Amino acid sequence: MVLEKYKQKRNFTSTPEPSGDLKLAEEHAKQEKTSKSLFFCVQKHLASHLHYDFRLEHRGVLLSWAVPKGPSLDPKTKRLAMMVEDHPIEYGTFEGVIPEGYGAGIVMLWDQGTWRPESPDVDAALKKGDLKFTLDGFKLKGSWVLVRTGGRYPGSSGSSDARSWLLIKHRDDWAGDVDITEFASKSVKSEGDFEDILAQDRPDVWESNRPAKGGEAGAMLAKIIERAAELKAGKASPASASGRRAAPQTRTTVSTTKKPRARTTTPIKKKAGPKRRTRS
Ligand code: MN
Repeated sequence: MVLEKYKQKRNFTSTPEPSGDLKLAEEHAKQEKTSKSLFFCVQKHLASHLHYDFRLEHRGVLLSWAVPKGPSLDPKTKRLAMMVEDHPIEYGTFEGVIPEGYGAGIVMLWDQGTWRPESPDVDAALKKGDLKFTLDGFKLKGSWVLVRTGGRYPGSSGSSDARSWLLIKHRDDWAGDVDITEFASKSVKSEGDFEDILAQDRPDVWESNRPAKGGEAGAMLAKIIERAAELKAGKASPASASGRRAAPQTRTTVSTTKKPRARTTTPIKKKAGPKRRTRS
């Protein structure tokens, strides 16, 4: 059944995620035959671990891969992508806080746009484990490929997990050595970071039971919860942590704030702009 696994894993009385409208899936599947624009998105998801969910519209649902390190624009950097259950089409614009249960954490809509398969038969490409496609998103563009690496030698030891794929950028004008997950780290929907998304919700939601407890994700979440609580209480200006003072901004335009991070040698420099107050 369509979206069966998606529905099995979730309790829709306790998650804000869409429940998966099968009629909508059917409608989209029908439209797919006549329209050439298919939806794609990448959702940055801080759950027990930080990862990026890469989703491509196909047959009325979103084919989904969890990419632990996120996409890379460098063709030499192949990124592990674990195929997960199909998601409903309306999941593609979801951003928010999952308070408990499966995937508990924060979801950010990191990129969205349209995709086009580079060969006419997507099902055949999936079966073969070699799907070439073109993306037209805000952050990701140009030609890419998803190659299945797992399941080649069923029964053998080692990584024979049939869900393992690699997400690889093809060499073209949109390839480069910019770390896109660092360079463009925020939401294309709200323009905010995780703490802004959490501040719109309930920063105290995980008081007793945090989805990420230890390690990098746990430390990251702890900081985000603290920052979100400050933002909600109106105590923090969004850029206060960077040491660089940002112009005062409203809640909805926090896109230029930066967290302190190691300097990389990215060739593209974000326009810093003069220290000018922009509020009228
Ligand atoms: Mn996820």
